[in-house]
Amino acid sequence: MPNMSLKKNEMPSQEPNVRNKNFLEVALGYTEEQALDEAARCLNCKNHPCVSGCPVQVKIPEFIKKITEKDYEGAYQVIHETSSLPAVCGRVCPQETQCESKCIRGIKGEPVGIGRLERFVADWHNANVQEAPAKPAPNGHKVAVIGSGPSGLTCAGDLAKKGYDVTVFEALHLAGGVLVYGIAEFRLPKAIVQKEVDGLKALGVKVETNMVIGRVVSIDELMSEYGFEAVFIGSGAGLPMFMHIPGEALKGVCSANEYLTRINLMKAYKEEYDTPILHSKAAAIVGGGNVAMDAARCAKRMGAEKVYIVYRRGEAEMPARLEEQHHAKEEGIEFMTLTNPVEILGGEDGRVNGMKCIKMELGEPDASGRRRPIPVEGSEFVLDVDTVIMSLGTSPNPLIRSTTPGLETNKKGGIIVDENEMSTRENVFAGGDAVTGAATVILAMGAGKKAAEAIDRKLQGK
Ligand code: FAD
Ligand code: SF4
Repeated sequence: MPNMSLKKNEMPSQEPNVRNKNFLEVALGYTEEQALDEAARCLNCKNHPCVSGCPVQVKIPEFIKKITEKDYEGAYQVIHETSSLPAVCGRVCPQETQCESKCIRGIKGEPVGIGRLERFVADWHNANVQEAPAKPAPNGHKVAVIGSGPSGLTCAGDLAKKGYDVTVFEALHLAGGVLVYGIAEFRLPKAIVQKEVDGLKALGVKVETNMVIGRVVSIDELMSEYGFEAVFIGSGAGLPMFMHIPGEALKGVCSANEYLTRINLMKAYKEEYDTPILHSKAAAIVGGGNVAMDAARCAKRMGAEKVYIVYRRGEAEMPARLEEQHHAKEEGIEFMTLTNPVEILGGEDGRVNGMKCIKMELGEPDASGRRRPIPVEGSEFVLDVDTVIMSLGTSPNPLIRSTTPGLETNKKGGIIVDENEMSTRENVFAGGDAVTGAATVILAMGAGKKAAEAIDRKLQGK
């Protein structure tokens, strides 16, 4: 008998007033009992609409059915057929706009907690199954992967399983891309990402860190001097945007990417690390996406008494996941919507001493389909802050484009690829944020998977 409760099982979480002072994971995961109760809400629909909402078409009803049978490893294997990072996706995928938005149970009540069940299954597997992956027989072909984010890791893993000799080149000192340097530890513990990287190494993938391709060695050199027959570019979109308003060069202004990198990758929140970081009393985070939420929640944990999200549109237009907005508010972050900064004010010491803002109202929809924010004349005011963290979006870094002749990009800097993820350079493939601009983990993973298949077809002359 299905469980006809209209509500999802709640996710056990740390209390807001406790968690906003530590970096431990906020959501604690379902117990077995909760997972079984939630799985029983699935109707195992014949047309499985939820699957059409998943960018990599995980067989959702099939894995949920395995949970009801208490075959958790079987459930993991079903997910793993199409998704290489279930423990990551179960935590950070925007399920509410993907699979769960199509779930039949969502018509009258809440959809099945698909993401929470995926996390339960992945965590069960990680806790109970010690895999020693069999190294496939080498096929004699060498492939280079640039960048170790979800697109690069997926592409590398899929190729290694087919016997390719794969080397991942990563600019930073640790592999994982945004999963380690961007997304906050309390949403995605770094040990989970490290386990995935270790799994790839066990498959034979070589990971070379501190290797900035385009500086240390170019793509042409990788192919002509080091014998790589194909290259996959998964270098992401890590170049932050700024507003170009007066005062952005003051001490106390930085991009969310830099702020989060210092905290996540360089562990600025740990006493034993002497990573320099802005210690704010009052911080304004400008922007309304997931990155802004992560930066705001980190600022609170780093000791800021006041943390504001300053966003020029309304709350309904905010791109951040609803769950992140909700968690941020619970933790004491103040949302100042319909507000736009016009100038950052500085004191005599060259440090931020307030931010001048103007109130906005929404006009007609713009090219993005969202209502255009328009300044309200005479509504300027000064927000009392000592730190401003810009979280306005990012674009692909131009380094690879500028050092790879013949590699074409669009006007936003995204690498142009064909339907097989191949760029305008023969045997150079690309995927993830480096192609699309800032997007999501699952889309980056899907692109890495597709590119691995295309590289295999090309190098095997299929
Ligand atoms: P990345 O993860 O950006 O990895 C690219 C890697 O390439 C990096 O490690 C970089 O150092 C390396 N690199 C760059 N240039 C070079 C070079 N020249 N040589 C060698 N290496 C290079 N998505 C979600 O789905 N859910 C979320 O909740 C979510 N939250 C986010 C929060 C934050 C703070 C950020 C920044 C992003 C978030 N995203 C989220 C987006 C998601 O993380 C990205 O879309 C995804 O990581 C893109 O994967 P990728 O493999 O294309 O690139
Ligand atoms: Fe189960 Fe919802 Fe998918 Fe139907 S749509 S199979 S109820 S998860």
